[in-house]
Amino acid sequence: MNERSAEARVVEKIMEDLQKENGNTEEQLQTIEEIEADQKEQISVLGASDADNCSFPQGYCKRQALYACLTCAKDGQPAAMCLACSYNCHDDCELVELYTKRDFRCDCGTGKYHRKCKFDESKNHTNEKNRYDHNFDGKYCECLRPYPDPDCPEELKDDEMIQCIVCEDWWHSSCLKLTKEELDNDDNDEMICPRCLAKPELSFLRCYSISNADKESVSGDCTKPKNEPKSTSGSFFVEDFRLKICKCVDCMKLLTDAKVEFLIDFDDSVAAYEQKGIEAHKEEEKEADDQINNFLDKLDHNGQMEVAHGVAFMRQMMKEMFEKAQSSGGVITNEHTQDLKRKLAERTEEMKRRRLNHQF
Ligand SMILES: [Zn+2]
Ligand SMILES: [Zn+2]
Ligand SMILES: [Zn+2]
Ligand SMILES: [Zn+2]
Ligand SMILES: [Zn+2]
Ligand SMILES: [Zn+2]
Repeated sequence: MNERSAEARVVEKIMEDLQKENGNTEEQLQTIEEIEADQKEQISVLGASDADNCSFPQGYCKRQALYACLTCAKDGQPAAMCLACSYNCHDDCELVELYTKRDFRCDCGTGKYHRKCKFDESKNHTNEKNRYDHNFDGKYCECLRPYPDPDCPEELKDDEMIQCIVCEDWWHSSCLKLTKEELDNDDNDEMICPRCLAKPELSFLRCYSISNADKESVSGDCTKPKNEPKSTSGSFFVEDFRLKICKCVDCMKLLTDAKVEFLIDFDDSVAAYEQKGIEAHKEEEKEADDQINNFLDKLDHNGQMEVAHGVAFMRQMMKEMFEKAQSSGGVITNEHTQDLKRKLAERTEEMKRRRLNHQF
């Protein structure tokens, strides 16, 4: 637990109170909801990855957030690093965000980059088990487009990218060759791409797909659906499909031969990883609350007054920022937050001056 998160929690609390007190215009609410959605996404992607320690000593991690560095890559060799290395060892570099991938060991400082790892300068391993694809060059999907996509073609403008749970490449929904009905199905949860399903050893997974209407199983002992739909498209699967995959001797052989045993491990899923992140964040919030309360308890009267004035000032400034934002369309822009930061910095300076004056 560091000071920054305690500070962030104070601001969050003030924001919550202010929202409750002032009520919100619809636009403002939307903006705050957007901020919260962004925050939630950040928490779920990064929450279960360690921002302060390189994951290298843990070896090949079950799942972690990964970043490729375009600045330090040696001779175009693909490589990626953990979250902590992206913050500490390559904070001034051009990074490609890879979201999360399974079974990967951090490449920072292992000779694939023109730079040592600040966490361990002696690293000189090659991570033989790491697998790389075009994502590590910042290209995604069968159409090999970048993301974000500056020259995005019109037909992909509103497209949502979906990660294949087998190869972990990201696909444009329109590149999956599915009908609009199949894409819009509310039960869609996990996706396997057309490229993976075209492999003979993986085609049996189509039996479990949402689009397979005939769920009659092979036998009493084998619960795998008998019917294997013929198709060249990608497929979606329901949320608990991993639990439904048959584990009879024959089916286990199918899974091991295709090297996809991870599919029957619920903890392998992005959903399980994200849940871990959310839980870690809740724990952190509680710790921060305790820390703030503890800190306030320990202050003498003058200290308590100073904090109370500081918080009141902050509230007032944030209130003004909300009001200003409201009068200009309800959206809090960079300009608003810069203005707030400037005022807070001015006040800090002012307090410093006052304290100095007291000394003389
Ligand atoms: Zn690392
Ligand atoms: Zn770098
Ligand atoms: Zn590093
Ligand atoms: Zn595509
Ligand atoms: Zn795939
Ligand atoms: Zn079976």
